[in-house]
Amino acid sequence: MKYCRFQFENAPHFGLVESLAGRDSITRLLLATPEEANGKLESIPSIPITPLILSDATLFEPVRPSKIICVGRNYREHAAELGNEVPKEPLLFFKPPSALLAPGGTVRRLTFAERSDYEGELGVVIGKRCSKLAPDEDVRFYILGYTCVNDFTARDLQKKDGQWTRAKGFDTSCPVGPVVTTQLDPWAGVTVETRVNGQVRQHGTTLDFIFPLDAVIRYIARFMTLLPGDLIATGTPSGVGPVVGGDVMEVEIEGIGILRNPVADEIA
Ligand code: MG
Repeated sequence: MKYCRFQFENAPHFGLVESLAGRDSITRLLLATPEEANGKLESIPSIPITPLILSDATLFEPVRPSKIICVGRNYREHAAELGNEVPKEPLLFFKPPSALLAPGGTVRRLTFAERSDYEGELGVVIGKRCSKLAPDEDVRFYILGYTCVNDFTARDLQKKDGQWTRAKGFDTSCPVGPVVTTQLDPWAGVTVETRVNGQVRQHGTTLDFIFPLDAVIRYIARFMTLLPGDLIATGTPSGVGPVVGGDVMEVEIEGIGILRNPVADEIA
């Protein structure tokens, strides 16, 4: 099952996304939010609408998390390219929900930062309250679905500040979407690709995670309760690099779609 959040009759709604004649289309309105479904998306009541092609719709962020938890340096080659050691435990940081940006929305690069980088990542959306998992519990039970995330980063501020609140938490620094899908298996390997102005910059697979998803979720749940709708960004493959105003970034994950966002220089 795939869903999005979109403009319908002047208000944001969640909508079911299905393939019609080979094109992703919004076919039904969901009458409850995915966060309310307690992991059972199929149980959400819905009504049919005149199908709308997804790429023609005005989309909003398909998640409304209480928190966004990101994994840093979860790909060996990416840790190496920035001169960092491979972490021995998952390295976590937050992005605030105020950083979220809709598919198609403009990332406002901080003009006082010297270098601003894209980071294409697989996003995991939590479906059920999750705390202190038993060793034999399957983390998949707590996952609602998957989406694309761009962990946009002011790289020089990340180094300068020592912690990453400003570098990774500014407004528009967390593009997400375009849809959330349940039909993905990161353990089997999915491709995460980032393009800038159509040129491929990152091309990784979730098979290269240093800490696989079950390790990450188990680790977080030991000390912090994950709530329905919470978003986990799972780390970026190698190939990060700077963008400037006028560039267009695309994060594509097979089975999810393309998260496309232009970059503009912040208006002072
Ligand atoms: Mg990242």
